[in-house]
Amino acid sequence: MTKSIEFNLDKMEVELVGPKAFYKLLTSEGHVVMNDFIGQDFRIYSHKEINCCNCGKKTAKSYSGGYCYPCSLKLAECDMCILKPELCHFDKGTCRQPDWGLTNCMIPHYVYLANSSGLKVGITRTSQIPTRWIDQGAVAALPILQVGTRYLSGVVEKLLSSEINDKTDWRKMLKGEPEEIDLQEKRDEFFELFGEDLDDIENKYGSDKISILESELVTHIDYPVQVYPDKVTSLSLEKNEFVGGKLVGIKGQYLIFDTGVINIRGQTGHKVHLEY
Ligand SMILES: [Zn+2]
Repeated sequence: MTKSIEFNLDKMEVELVGPKAFYKLLTSEGHVVMNDFIGQDFRIYSHKEINCCNCGKKTAKSYSGGYCYPCSLKLAECDMCILKPELCHFDKGTCRQPDWGLTNCMIPHYVYLANSSGLKVGITRTSQIPTRWIDQGAVAALPILQVGTRYLSGVVEKLLSSEINDKTDWRKMLKGEPEEIDLQEKRDEFFELFGEDLDDIENKYGSDKISILESELVTHIDYPVQVYPDKVTSLSLEKNEFVGGKLVGIKGQYLIFDTGVINIRGQTGHKVHLEY
């Protein structure tokens, strides 16, 4: 049994090697490759303390997924427009952190189709591919549009979400492989369906701000899962002294134990130590 030094939990780092998803936890002693523990006992012990992932200060409660309350009010990355990019207000001069907005939002984004718990539409910075897809537990994904800003990606996503889901049903995603979907065929259908609307967006914002991607290839992603649970029991560090058991799989940002599942990203900032 190895016991790690305590550290603040952060989302798992992900990497795609061929079609295979690899997961690493960054601890105070370096990276722990989580794929190596599939089929083995693994425990995460809670120290019942949350530290803000921005300023490091102790916080009784986690806001915006791992921040203290003051940081959640001050940081652009905690603003409502991050969840709803069509509400981006950079152009009004009211971005909470214009420099952050410039480097994170006023840059090219992709609109993509993915199969996570079924067909969905999503958006991401171009640099976040394939990270974003792995974080969502998608088994396949396809960029369909490139747009100039986060705001425009939100405008297009909102348009497409009148016909397609823009959320993943995480319980369904964790219960097994979704039915196969031909994403290229779906893309062609949506281009046909929304052709006029996309033309309108192009006319309004400029043809240099939106490119239709007609010949991208589908990325397929295999997750290290031995057994999918029949029933998804959600575990958290708030409620338990430790979370763990036999690690039977990893998908999205979830560790799947024989005792239940835990969303590691949702536990950002929790002080923990590991035993394995
Ligand atoms: Zn803070």
